[in-house]
Amino acid sequence: MSAGTTELAGIFRRLIESHGPMPVSRYMGESNARYYTTRDPLGAPRESGGGDFTTAPEISQMFGEMAGLWLADIWVRAGRHSDAIYVELGPGRGTLARDALRAMASQGLRPEVHLVEGSEALRKIQGGTLAGAQFHDSIDTLPENRPLLLLANEFLDALPIRQLVMTAQGWRERMVGLEGRAFAFVSGPSPMTEAVPEDLRAAQPDTVIETCPAAAALIEALARRLDVQGGAALFIDYGHLALRTGSTLQAVKAHEKVDVFDAPGEMDLTAHVDFATLDAIARREGVASSLTTQGAWLAAMGIGLRAQSLAKASPARAEEIGLAHDRLVQPDAMGELFKCMALTARDWPRGAGFPEGQRRKPDG
Ligand code: SAH
Repeated sequence: MSAGTTELAGIFRRLIESHGPMPVSRYMGESNARYYTTRDPLGAPRESGGGDFTTAPEISQMFGEMAGLWLADIWVRAGRHSDAIYVELGPGRGTLARDALRAMASQGLRPEVHLVEGSEALRKIQGGTLAGAQFHDSIDTLPENRPLLLLANEFLDALPIRQLVMTAQGWRERMVGLEGRAFAFVSGPSPMTEAVPEDLRAAQPDTVIETCPAAAALIEALARRLDVQGGAALFIDYGHLALRTGSTLQAVKAHEKVDVFDAPGEMDLTAHVDFATLDAIARREGVASSLTTQGAWLAAMGIGLRAQSLAKASPARAEEIGLAHDRLVQPDAMGELFKCMALTARDWPRGAGFPEGQRRKPDG
């Protein structure tokens, strides 16, 4: 257990001392809000300043190009709505948007750009990359009468999760408390058994399950908008396609996994995305939803050919391009761990590269 030495750790400690343990969701939400708003966390370790983690769009331009072509293809087949807008959730440095918009422009799609971003530091960087972009704190303020063409990479994993834990007294909320000066997981006072799916109610002691109310609410609101406004959305994140148990809360700092209590506010806290639940929510709202892996989707989108043509155009970079391709696609790199979820309005065409109409095999 780590004592946590950051300013926020001190604030949390005083809060817990005066009010008792706090839910994991509060610990994660407040830690990430402070983390993202004060810095640019992206980038290779040795770069000036040194980032904490790297994402697919930062690995290669090919990732954003495939995402942009995916949206453009749907837009063309839907009849080229001239009022469609590009929306991105948590755009980081704006790299995905830049590459996707360039690919879209090659297909005649030049949409207005709307960015949902909570971090002031990142808004500045995004504004520099994407002239004329309009910023939003949440999807609530997006235009209401125009089709949405939406991308979100590694956004859902940063949203705060709640955890429930099986104890000798039954299911309880998993909380962050103190053992001496060190943070420690403790169980909350209120019975939570009714909040747990029936087939898990008799689970082994210490079994943990996670829910992400913020992601569930976001997908529900977005699905309603897609139903009314039309459009398509692509979410890419690490996570699972079938319900599972166990804590996936993790912390990363300077490209290393660290203890989740190490440095609240100064490390990236994430959790795996429960795509099975988000898929069910979208379908319930009448939107078409489909899931696949990042590797399968990128391969179906033709990233292999794109890598070949980029390598041919700049032979000196051929090796680097091949390595980036493999990192994005190979099952032992990002290809299997990262999943894609496609949402499309019911009267819009389905997106390329997703299995249609067939049952997915659960990935355990
Ligand atoms: N999509 C980018 C960055 C991923 S990091 C990439 O792939 O490189 C997560 C992004 O989501 C950051 O831009 C962060 O500031 C933003 N973010 C995290 N939580 C958020 C929230 N609750 N509301 C709005 N933006 C958030």
